[in-house]
Amino acid sequence: MNNKRIYLSLSQQSGFEQDYVQKALDTKWITSGGPHVDEFEKKIENYLADNLFITALNSGTSAIHLALILLGIKIGDEVICQSMTFSASANPILYQGAVPVFIDSESDTWNICPENLEIAIKDRIKKGKKPKAIITVHLYGNPYKVDEVHAIADRYEIPIIEDSAEALGSSYKGKKCGTFGAFGIFSFNGNKIITTSTGGALISNSKEFKEKAIFYATQSRDEAIHYEHSEIGYNYRMSNICASVGLGQMKILDRNVKLRRENHNFYRDIFDSIEYVELFESLNKDYFSNCWMNTILFEPNIKRNLNRESLRLALEIANIESRPLWKPMHLQPFFKKHLYYGNKIAENLFQKGLCLPSGSNLTSEDKNRIEKAIRNFFN
Ligand SMILES: *Cc1c(COP(=O)(O)O)cnc(C)c1O
Repeated sequence: MNNKRIYLSLSQQSGFEQDYVQKALDTKWITSGGPHVDEFEKKIENYLADNLFITALNSGTSAIHLALILLGIKIGDEVICQSMTFSASANPILYQGAVPVFIDSESDTWNICPENLEIAIKDRIKKGKKPKAIITVHLYGNPYKVDEVHAIADRYEIPIIEDSAEALGSSYKGKKCGTFGAFGIFSFNGNKIITTSTGGALISNSKEFKEKAIFYATQSRDEAIHYEHSEIGYNYRMSNICASVGLGQMKILDRNVKLRRENHNFYRDIFDSIEYVELFESLNKDYFSNCWMNTILFEPNIKRNLNRESLRLALEIANIESRPLWKPMHLQPFFKKHLYYGNKIAENLFQKGLCLPSGSNLTSEDKNRIEKAIRNFFN
């Protein structure tokens, strides 16, 4: 029997990537910026909504960093961040010398909890430290409580940076994720829903922000015949080669969303009949997920000695990758000295949660192996 490793999340090629890369090589556009970068940005703009401006960058992390810079975040400023996320959401706060304030999740979407968000904002204002920005995350492609969270942010006039790294193709009330905040970001690294090998994008609502983002992303060169700099600069622009891969990938974005949502149905059929396990499901029709990652919560069964970790090990023996959920930032050795507002919802999710193979490349043979491994484990 085929026993090749089944990974958590791999993307697939459309077959068009090579043609675009070849064209870039042929036309000698092989550095950062270039016609394919422009074209890739246009494609994403058209995909998202009108009147948005995309800046293609070399990672999602650099997109978050530039969003903070464009919002004027400086040393000592406080920036609120969803605790349950990948460290790339929080690290750029520290690149700016700013201070993260972490917020718990709520249990419906597993994203930033509106109640704790407001408690934190009020408390920080009382202490004379009004937060300068809020970083929200659509974890695993699942939209957060957009209406509630943005109503709070608007009330206190705090801009939101929407980390939509995992949520390209997701939407809330019919509006695409990545388009709700003052800034949004996407990631196109190798395990996201589409990839540029490595890459990211900043979403903004003005041409001025886009121009300023490109300025910072290309070492902040002032207009002059020599190299003149009056501001700090970064090397964050997407390369034309990466954008070529991205153009090939845009052709299958819709298909990938469809395939990943089918993976979700596959898991629903399995877990419907399994007692201790609950598959994450969107709260209601307002929340449209790209199902980038399928996740379960495993209520440990002490008598039968079944728990999240024993399932993970059983899958591992079948050469199937699975992984606990993101470990919340306020529990990370590097971040735990920072403030946290919450009720241990994220802790509980981290204790019981598991990510399951969800790639757009899963074959029916892969699915058979996954199903067999899970059913064997519970029988
Ligand atoms: C992948 C990811 C990022 C970072 O993207 P890179 O392109 O790898 O820098 C940021 N936030 C979240 C939630 C992610 O999953």
